[in-house]
Amino acid sequence: MASEYVFTPPAAVSIPVVGQAARFPVHRIYCVGRNYEEHAKEMGFTGREPPFFFMKPADAVVVVAAGETGTMAYPTLTQNLHHEIELVAAIGTGGKNISAADAHKHIFGYAVGLDMTRRDLQGDMKKQGRPWDIGKSFEQSAPIGPIVPVAQAGDVERAEISLQVGGKDRQRSNVSKLIWSIAETIEHLSAAWELAPGDLIFTGTPEGVAAVVAGDTMVGEVKGLPTLTVKVI
Ligand code: MN
Repeated sequence: MASEYVFTPPAAVSIPVVGQAARFPVHRIYCVGRNYEEHAKEMGFTGREPPFFFMKPADAVVVVAAGETGTMAYPTLTQNLHHEIELVAAIGTGGKNISAADAHKHIFGYAVGLDMTRRDLQGDMKKQGRPWDIGKSFEQSAPIGPIVPVAQAGDVERAEISLQVGGKDRQRSNVSKLIWSIAETIEHLSAAWELAPGDLIFTGTPEGVAAVVAGDTMVGEVKGLPTLTVKVI
């Protein structure tokens, strides 16, 4: 009997949702660059620039259940793998040209994510004016914890955000310091792409990005959401 596909298609990528059995199926992963002033400065930039975006493939997701320690393999080609702790907004209702005033209606929930970055390769590409993909869009580059529906998530836009490695603070700030708010980000994103249910938006990282090595355990938090714990192996 002829099969519908020439090979078995990959399973859908999905993330557990707190308080319900149904999972959140992932469509696209959008990431905002340099969206906290102190991080922009540490990367050599100042001032408020228009928001800019890059993407990761959906299968870059590493799902980490609440209370568990996830693992990510140290990727190839890099000697400077950086952590970027981020609040992630999960889109439940799609649309294009969404105004900031309407943006919150499109958010299903929030999670804690890590935008893992091969900083040395990203830096090489920046210098040459080439795409960042090799620095940002590799396998397992997007560990993420469970999604908390908006109604249970509390005031995540004014929550403390932090990352510890080996029990020591690396990053600590507050989501209120985002240069472009989540609503403004959705307005800009949806002018350029049609957002769809299942899209994830990594909203940017505060200052303190630094390297991890195999054996390190990262503990990321946004107050009010499940902690994200990931060991690099
Ligand atoms: Mn980032």
